[in-house]
Amino acid sequence: MVVMIDLPANPLTTPREALAELCAGNDRFVAGTRIHPNQDAEHRAALASVQNPFAVVFGCSDSRLAAEIIFDRGLGDLFVVRTAGHTIGPEVLGSVEYAVSILHTPLVVVLGHNSCGAVTAARDAYLNDEPPSGYLRAVVDAIAPSVHLAMADHVADLDRMVTLHIERTVDQLRSESDTLARAIADGRCSVVGMFYELSAGRVRIVTGG
Ligand SMILES: [Zn+2]
Repeated sequence: MVVMIDLPANPLTTPREALAELCAGNDRFVAGTRIHPNQDAEHRAALASVQNPFAVVFGCSDSRLAAEIIFDRGLGDLFVVRTAGHTIGPEVLGSVEYAVSILHTPLVVVLGHNSCGAVTAARDAYLNDEPPSGYLRAVVDAIAPSVHLAMADHVADLDRMVTLHIERTVDQLRSESDTLARAIADGRCSVVGMFYELSAGRVRIVTGG
């Protein structure tokens, strides 16, 4: 008797393949033709002892930016790390390094979006010279260098500021993680910055890719 084992789909092994798959999923989401892949009970069971996510999505925590929904993916597909304003700290870097070095995930996406509340808070703190209290200050302080860069370039528009912050976040990941830098140099991984339009549901690549 032949026992069929329902293994997870073959992992996508190149950054280019992974990016194409993500973009295809977002196209389906925008068009209203989602196929909800990898969300059935059989796939869930097959994944119980192994995972091969093909992309890390490091995005803003904003409730409208749910990775598996906007990229039309399911269980085991995306390794998701989220903080308000996609701000980077040691745990974020460690989480990304885990995916890249242990799970061999070939793509890291930094996902920002228009009308970002965290970037707005950082901009307002700068303009009013009034930092927020509590740990929210850590978020604002982490975004502050992007706001300073924007102001130096006379960029006042919030969404252009977000774009600049996405680009800076990509640079930070590359420069602060030796593990990631090595994977990029070896061609095993790439880092892409994406900007998400809340209303249209569309992502566009702003850097990398
Ligand atoms: Zn946000």
